[in-house]
This record gives sequence, C-alpha cells and structure tokens, in this order.
Amino acid sequence: MIRANPHYQKLNTDYLFSEIAQRIQAFQARRPDTALIHLGLGDVTGPLPAACIRALHAAVDELSCRDGFRGYGPEQGYGFLREAIAQHDFRVRGAPICADEIFISEGTKVDIGNIQALFATDLRVAIPDPVYPVYVDTNVMAGRTGPATGGRYSGLSYLPCTAANGFVPEIPDTPVDLIYLCSPNNPTGVALRREQLQAWVDHARAHQALILFDAAYEAFIRDSSLPHSIYEIPGAREVAIEFRSYSKTAGFTGVRCAYTVVPKDCIVRHLDGTPASAHALWRRRHQTRSNGVSYFAQRAAQALYTPEGRRQARALCDQYLANARTLRTGFQQLGLPCTGGEHSPYVWIDTGQDAWAFFDLLLDQAGIVCTPGSGFGRCGQRHIRLSAFNSAENTAEALERIAQVLA
Ligand code: PLP
Repeated sequence: MIRANPHYQKLNTDYLFSEIAQRIQAFQARRPDTALIHLGLGDVTGPLPAACIRALHAAVDELSCRDGFRGYGPEQGYGFLREAIAQHDFRVRGAPICADEIFISEGTKVDIGNIQALFATDLRVAIPDPVYPVYVDTNVMAGRTGPATGGRYSGLSYLPCTAANGFVPEIPDTPVDLIYLCSPNNPTGVALRREQLQAWVDHARAHQALILFDAAYEAFIRDSSLPHSIYEIPGAREVAIEFRSYSKTAGFTGVRCAYTVVPKDCIVRHLDGTPASAHALWRRRHQTRSNGVSYFAQRAAQALYTPEGRRQARALCDQYLANARTLRTGFQQLGLPCTGGEHSPYVWIDTGQDAWAFFDLLLDQAGIVCTPGSGFGRCGQRHIRLSAFNSAENTAEALERIAQVLA
C-alpha cells in the first residue's frame, strides 16, 4: 500500500484558483451567452515587449545551426542574464548583489515552494494575512503546521494586515525563524516603505531569523522613495533571500523565467549548530534537481535590460497601472474602501460582506470575475481582489456593469 503524504490532508480546500475556475464553469453552463470579464486571475493579457520577441526569434535562429546550437545550459542560468540582473536590478540601486548570487529559474512560484526544502520542518514560520496563498500551502505540505481550524493552521504565526495597521505586517511578539514578506503585496497592493523594511531586517538580524522576500511586483513601484529590493536595506544580505519574476513585470507568465537571489552572507545552521551557507545549499539543490531554464527564455529576459526593452516593459506596466487607478477610483466612488492600485496591479476592496457571496453577486449579476479575499487569508474574509491585467476597454466596461449592480 502506498501511503500519501499525510500533510496534504490538512490542506483547507482546493487551490483558490481551481475553486474559482469551477464556479466560472458552472456559471457558463447556466448562462452560455454572457461575455465574462475577468478581473480575477493574476495573469497578464498584453503581448510580450517587441525587444523580447526579437530576442526570441534570434535565439531560434542561433539554435537552428550547428555553430549556434546549445544543449544543457548552466544550472544557475547563463552569465549574460545574471550579469545584466546584478547590474540593472541591484547595483544601480545601491544593492550589493553579485551575478553568482543569482539563480535563474522557471518561476517564482516554483522557487518559493522549493526554497523551504532547505530548512528544518520544526521552524517557526511567520506569514502575512492576507498574502499569496502559496506560502501557507507549501509549508502545510512540508509538515510545518498542524491542522486548520477557522481558516488558520496551528503552528503558523499569522501577521494580520488590516486597515487598522495600514495593511503592513507588524513584527510579532513571539520569536519566529522564517518570515515571508511580499512587497508590493499580493493581494493588498501595499508596498513596504524603507523604514518598515529596515525594521524587519533589524529584527531578523537580532533574532537569527531569515526573511523570504517576494518582490514579484516590484516593477509596478512608481514612488522613487520606496525600495524595490530588500538588499537596498543595510544588513539585509545576511538575513534575506529575494524572489523576482518576469511574469507580471514583462508578460512572461507563459514564457516562464524568474530568479532567486541567495547572498553568500546568508547563514543557516546545521542540526549540530555548525554554520551552513544558504547559498551553497541552494546551489547544491539546483545542481541535483535542475537543468536550468530554456535558452530562449533567458535571451528574452536579457532583452529586458536593453534601453528599448526597459522602456517597453515599463509601458506595459503603466497600462496595467492606469487600469488599476480606474478600478480604485471607481470603487471609491461607489463608496467601498480600497487599497492598492498605486504601486501594484491589484486593488483590494472591502465589500462589507462575505467575500464569496460578493464574488457570486458580481459573477451572477454582472458577469465579472473577481478573486474572493478569503482565499488569501482570514483577514480577507470581507474583501475581494481586482486585477488590472485586462484591457482598458474591458476594465471600463466591468466598472459600468458593477456600478449598475451596486447602485
Ligand atoms: N509571487 C507572487 C506574490 C505572485 O502573486 C505570483 C503569481 O501570481 C508569483 C510569485 C508567481 O510568479 P511566477 O509566475 O514567476 O511563478
């Protein structure tokens, strides 16, 4: 008899987005003529920047002849991309990161799930609420929690992010080892300010904790005083691992390319207390479990660091940010409190009622798909997340339909 991993039985429900997909399917079976507008899924809709398309074509041409052909690439990623990242994403911002501290991967979701394999199962883990559900679920699967009651797993330290604290996670009173931070946050859209991030870094240094910093949406930050990377904060190299993705920032959700930064100063401990380099552990894992990311994807990502690529990717984000502003303003006019949408493609709305009930209302009466906030944590029970990853026309029409329903 093959026994399944017992921790999977603790998982609350299906993955949030599978539940949404099922409700949409049921709706479409009932009302096949309604044209749905999707403001739910965090998937982009705009085409890739032209600079990336050109790089993809050039990579195909290279591989089509014997001289240009490449087989397995370096597990950690090609030097041409890692060098560009170190220079343009970090060093220009005063963040001291070297190319060999960067690991290219197929996606941040995969890396966030895999990174916790480096750590012992009895670590104390702190996770904001609400946040990207993958942090919680992967720790449940790894056996770092007890069962869930009332939407929360025992054994996890939840960091509530509500209107009362400006949706900024507060440093917990009880000691923790692993701290997840997401800035700009999915789903609230709130970006941590420099002094807030500094407080977390100082806390991690004082308590030998490690921060897992998810910056998948950093390219949406438009206020120059806000940090894009945790390594802009003094002392972070020793206590933080950072995740970056090209998915939302350059339309790579289908291409698949991302990276994780594990600085060489980041030290964890073996069971006997001897120091271990997190960088060396992650490199070892990569060598064993990865053969790298496709050459095409890495060439396309490299193109994002040319002046043309940077301009085009920024313009893409600007379009989504304009939609986010439209949504935020529209909902404020409807009298519902919102946050996000300024440095983020997400708007987080307090509906004043149960999130799934509001989801069903928008779906059934307006043909609009949103994301119920309860899927991101208990603090999201009355909220929905709207995503700006649609066309300006669809966003405007969605608002009109919603206004009619809520009027
Ligand atoms: N991190 C956050 C906060 C996200 O919201 C998402 C996707 O929605 C990801 C990571 C996944 O990124 P990737 O497409 O690189 O796997």
